[in-house]
Amino acid sequence: MSDEATIHRPAIGAFRWAGVEPQPYKTEGDAPFRAVERHTLFADPALPAHLRYFEIGPGGYSTLERHAHRHSVMILRGRGRCLVGETIFDVAAHDLVSTPPWAWHQFRAAPDEPLGFLCLVDAARDRPQTPSAEELAALRADPTVAAFLER
Ligand code: MN
Repeated sequence: MSDEATIHRPAIGAFRWAGVEPQPYKTEGDAPFRAVERHTLFADPALPAHLRYFEIGPGGYSTLERHAHRHSVMILRGRGRCLVGETIFDVAAHDLVSTPPWAWHQFRAAPDEPLGFLCLVDAARDRPQTPSAEELAALRADPTVAAFLER
């Protein structure tokens, strides 16, 4: 054993799965997002659901969107906040977040930590909508929501 001080850093590459390549979060449209990776963990035609792992880098955020389908999220790593409907939640590992149909939602990582979460959705689902200028103005009428969206 060495007399030198040592430190063991956590393994780089955690929250990666062999055979699962991280994909771009979104490939179509111009909805704003920052620093989001998507990992499709389960997508078997015999089971009509998809389980994905999303990781948002520090300071990043997912698209502000809504849709008819529900999704269920379990936070796996890091910290952040999310908007669901008109409510903003602080989130951390192992929190469960459900988004009801047509609720506006967005996930934002803390400035100094990533936010990683599992997301379970129907395999057959409608395409997300992003807010019109009028809808965005209506959301921003709530000062707490406006502050959340401006970060
Ligand atoms: Mn969504």
